[in-house]
Amino acid sequence: MSTGDALTKSITAQSLPAATEPAIVFDRVGVSYRSGRKTTVALADFTLRVAAGETVALLGPSGSGKSTALKALAGFVRPTSGAVRLAGRDVTDLSPAKRGIGVVVQSYALFPHMTVHGNVAFGLKSHRVPRTEIGARVTEALVMVGMGAYAKRLPRELSGGQQQRVAIARALAIRPKVLLLDEPLAALDAQLRQSMLGELQQLRKALPDTAMLYVTHDQSEALALADRIAVMRASRLVDIDTAANLWRRPPSDFTAAFLGGANLLPCTVNRLSGGSALVTVGAKTLRAEAPTPGVGQEDWGLDGPALLCVRPHTVRVGAPSERDALRGTVRSAVWRGASTRLYLDVDGLADEVTADVPGQVDTAIGAVVGVCFPDPAGVLIPRPVGRTTPIEVQK
Ligand code: ADP
Ligand code: MG
Repeated sequence: MSTGDALTKSITAQSLPAATEPAIVFDRVGVSYRSGRKTTVALADFTLRVAAGETVALLGPSGSGKSTALKALAGFVRPTSGAVRLAGRDVTDLSPAKRGIGVVVQSYALFPHMTVHGNVAFGLKSHRVPRTEIGARVTEALVMVGMGAYAKRLPRELSGGQQQRVAIARALAIRPKVLLLDEPLAALDAQLRQSMLGELQQLRKALPDTAMLYVTHDQSEALALADRIAVMRASRLVDIDTAANLWRRPPSDFTAAFLGGANLLPCTVNRLSGGSALVTVGAKTLRAEAPTPGVGQEDWGLDGPALLCVRPHTVRVGAPSERDALRGTVRSAVWRGASTRLYLDVDGLADEVTADVPGQVDTAIGAVVGVCFPDPAGVLIPRPVGRTTPIEVQK
């Protein structure tokens, strides 16, 4: 029986059945770092539940507190406030080794003087797995990541991608109920990242009961892997939902821009019916989706200010003479391979409009074009009730 099983059994005996408890709970966790007289709030009031078998991506810009959240769960930093629980058990004061969590970090962190086998076996020894079992468990973990043939190599004899596979095998060998990955693909080149992403998807399928927390600043990784995405900004959780919901109906301007990119156009709501609204953007009336406001969001007020999210790939750029087109001027154009990103000044709109048009577009800077929004033009961003500033600075 693995340590994890033993842990689950003892919890089951003491409290609620493990099945009713989420695999991971962050309960209002706060973490402050202190260096000298300066205190940095790295995580504030962070609450998150992850079910067994679920993968949640923590997505946010650098410095938003993602790694700190992961470290608080793994036991590498002590929360200043709040608690972390695994399958219902409060582990806030437990040493990292006793939590039975698998952790993979960006830098692989393999022991350079140990073989691949030795690296994977190391974790098992510290988890007191019987000697007779270790060989089989190491092989099992290496085979899972396609590294069965490399057991005798040293880390320096492996490519970056192979080293990261070994680091994943080391985390898996302890058969953790909870697997934490902190930007595991960030050090790999773009092509390898894509193939490793596919492998991580396979791994998820092979571990249907494992809860995974996947830290990344890369939206495409979050979209590819996560059942739900938790968006972080300035030490706080901003939004959490399925990728599809966050994409189709962004709950905040930050999430709209960070996940998918967005034109966020100030507008006025003129008419509402069902889930649809007529809004005025500059001098133009457009149709927009108006999702039913959720908890903590204000109702759409008529004639009130709102924000319309228009995805850059839905904006069409054609001739200025086109029907319903707004007159635009090309400010800059960046070819991105499959598409060209145009930055446009549009008559009557205060903010620059971004359009992603297919292929390589040869447009002169200063060229006058017709800019067409789709119908509906986009989706309204809900307004939070009594919005507070998300950035908390303590001196
Ligand atoms: P992310 O993983 O999202 O990039 P981190 O959790 O690493 O963010 O960091 C969150 C904040 O805490 C940042 O402002 C960072 O500079 C600060 N921070 C992280 N680790 C330490 C530390 N050991 N000492 C002081 N400040 C830290
Ligand atoms: Mg980090």
